[in-house]
Amino acid sequence: MRHYESTKRVLVTGGAGFLGSHLCDRLIAAGHEVVCADNLFTGSKRNITHLLGHPRFEFLRHDVTMPLYIEADEIWNLACPASPVHYQHDPVQTTKTSVHGAINMLGLAKRLKCRIFQASTSEVYGDPKIHPQPESYVGHVNPIGPRSCYDEGKRCAETLFFDYHRQHGLEIKVVRIFNTYGPRMHPNDGRVVSNFIVQALRGEDITIYGEGQQTRSFCYVDDLINGFLKFMASPAEFVGPMNLGNPGEFTIRELAEKVIALTGSSSKLAFKPLPADDPTQRQPDIRLARERLDWAPTVNLDEGLRHTIAYFEQLLAGRIE
Ligand code: NAD
Ligand code: UDP
Ligand code: UDP
Repeated sequence: MRHYESTKRVLVTGGAGFLGSHLCDRLIAAGHEVVCADNLFTGSKRNITHLLGHPRFEFLRHDVTMPLYIEADEIWNLACPASPVHYQHDPVQTTKTSVHGAINMLGLAKRLKCRIFQASTSEVYGDPKIHPQPESYVGHVNPIGPRSCYDEGKRCAETLFFDYHRQHGLEIKVVRIFNTYGPRMHPNDGRVVSNFIVQALRGEDITIYGEGQQTRSFCYVDDLINGFLKFMASPAEFVGPMNLGNPGEFTIRELAEKVIALTGSSSKLAFKPLPADDPTQRQPDIRLARERLDWAPTVNLDEGLRHTIAYFEQLLAGRIE
């Protein structure tokens, strides 16, 4: 590791995705050299167009289920489709991406003796029986349902991270991300915030699954990336898992009403069947991140939605390539 230099050569897998591209922006702004490895399954060059000509940015079209032999001082493993529509499209590939992807990136980190970050998820808690969910909660996950490829893939990846840590002494940072939204979300990935905003801007019905009484906690992307950077820079003994998310909890119906109000849309609510295994409530317990990282979200839902709506207005108007 090049400890003598303050700037590093950093590998970001999934760097052309929603979260990954924001992370690349922040790492470039901090003066680092960034290698973004992505197979562009759900990510897009659109998210990184502005970085493509940058002298410290390199894009590598690569699938993390394949080995990767490069040099780096730090690895951020974000590669994995995140929305149910995409991760259920080819569930076997989803599990491979989480599990083989983790093995390959951990093998790379082991060879390089470098710190490695894992983007895990609140989905490891499944449909939780404890509310809000602290990191000590071991979860309530169906191993054979339509969401299992993602949930169990991410759980197995966590197992691999902790075993490489215990067995090989690797410096790991495992974060459990709760629903995050913001500019560069995929407009067609079926996630609730992007769906509702796109529907509202087009004047289409807002599709509420079930009664809309299920809850989620929505974190604005800038807050989340601040948490990522603080965690990665924290002392080696803080390995996680660490919840990051916004504890503000809203029903899906409340979200729909906020989006309609903020866009001034004439859209109406349309109720559709609830998908299988859809968690009824989810809220992060972020005491650990507050204590260890002095981190808490600062952007409230209305403000974050305004930024996100502004992005989708530009996108739908064809002003973003
Ligand atoms: P995203 O779909 O926008 O980004 C994922 C990126 O990974 C995409 O660019 C995609 O092309 C790439 N990818 C997928 N499979 C790959 C493979 N086999 N090899 C290389 N690249 C591959 O999703 P996101 O919201 O940015 O999520 C990023 C990470 O954060 C994921 O690991 C996801 O599980 C995790 N996460 C996100 C959220 C959220 O609310 N956004 C919540 C929990 C966890
Ligand atoms: N690997 C990689 N790049 C490296 C080193 C390893 O992609 O620089 C991958 C390789 O596919 C290997 C996996 O990581 O199988 C796990 O590596 P590890 O050293 O833990 O185990 P190995 O299978 O090599 O015994
Ligand atoms: N949802 C909805 N309408 C949509 C998309 C999603 O009511 O158009 C609901 C979905 O059933 C779930 C919640 O919104 O209860 C969050 O869904 P998302 O796919 O964004 O995230 P996750 O279920 O992974 O938390």
